[in-house]
Amino acid sequence: MLFSADGDNCAYSDTVLGRFQEERLARNEAFFREVNERIREAGDRFDGSAEAEYEFLCECPESDCVDRIKLTLAAYEAVRADARRFVVAPGHDVPEIEHLVAEDELVAVVEKDGAAGEVAERLDPRH
Ligand SMILES: [Zn+2]
Repeated sequence: MLFSADGDNCAYSDTVLGRFQEERLARNEAFFREVNERIREAGDRFDGSAEAEYEFLCECPESDCVDRIKLTLAAYEAVRADARRFVVAPGHDVPEIEHLVAEDELVAVVEKDGAAGEVAERLDPRH
């Protein structure tokens, strides 16, 4: 029962729903990470230079976000070395599920916290 006149039950439901939402957000970001993995692999095939810049997709949880981020393969690799880290456009971080690791005018790096971090690690295509 999701809705109840009982205050305690409501609080419990909020916690469960919050966790589902965190999972959903993390899964969405994991999907964009998969797409970006393909971009990176294509970059490896066509150029291979770690200094070449490619347009990666913003990995934020906003499903209709189409922002692109220019990164060298080496810079993307550095973020991807940690399963909990994602690249997003500046200002696209979601403080409820992650914290900023680095940000400049072109790109922000976020690291997932709590349940979102666990999902991110579980869905990492490299692990
Ligand atoms: Zn975004």
